[in-house]
Amino acid sequence: MEQEMSYGSDYKFIPATSVGSGVSVIVVPDVYCHTIQIVNICLVGTPDSNEFVLIDAGMPGSADDIISVTEERFGTGSRPKAILLTHGHFDHVGAIIDLVKHWEIPVYAHELELPFLTGKTSYPEPDSTVEGGMVAKMSPLFPNEPINLGTWVKALPSDGIIPHLPGFRWIHTPGHSPGHVSFFREEDGTLIAGDAFVTVRQDSLYKVLTQEEEINGPPRYLTTDWQAAWESVKKLYQLNPVAAITGHGVPMTGERLTTGLKKLVDEFDKIAIPDYGKYI
Ligand SMILES: [Zn+2]
Ligand SMILES: [Zn+2]
Repeated sequence: MEQEMSYGSDYKFIPATSVGSGVSVIVVPDVYCHTIQIVNICLVGTPDSNEFVLIDAGMPGSADDIISVTEERFGTGSRPKAILLTHGHFDHVGAIIDLVKHWEIPVYAHELELPFLTGKTSYPEPDSTVEGGMVAKMSPLFPNEPINLGTWVKALPSDGIIPHLPGFRWIHTPGHSPGHVSFFREEDGTLIAGDAFVTVRQDSLYKVLTQEEEINGPPRYLTTDWQAAWESVKKLYQLNPVAAITGHGVPMTGERLTTGLKKLVDEFDKIAIPDYGKYI
């Protein structure tokens, strides 16, 4: 069963941060959100139970941070049942190999994301020419070579059910990446949206630093299919989410979320799609 895993050949620590870094938020009682530098991870499950999962795996070099946050919430030596990935970009799988080795748990992702997680296909080069500030300009630093999780990564079941996460189902929300998924719980309207949309303008260094709250489309420098990304946002809006945790930025709830998402759906071409860039 034990198999060699490896990060991509361009794997490295990325010196980016935000005022949110290190902050944890409990969005609904069983959803714990923690910010690592510029990206969010979620631990889903009640603290008194052994049944919980980790959603996304942070930035390169953040494994110790993720393990200590997990043990603080669920107890020393506790480990999630699985890691669920919204997608495989470097800032969502940064610590994953260290975590899989430490916890010996499976990883689940959409089947279209598996080539990027099994060493087969690189993500497209980040588009540093895209309209939008400093983070886009920094993006050539970002790793895009595939990591290899070998047999530790499995495809999410095709029926929408999520292993070890009862009550939620996964929704295919491509555009930012081919196999991007979001996780939704109908019962209370909790949405974990990954990078399908974000609550901070990720391509602006100022707004990443300050985490200034606004709903925007997916991070521009890594998004390759803007029409699909727009359709995905419409799909999520139609679910009527009550609370949204996004891959970047602060969680958003209630009326602000509803009106912000509506605006994004209506004006996606103006708000989200850049005026220029190589994937336009
Ligand atoms: Zn991403
Ligand atoms: Zn991201």
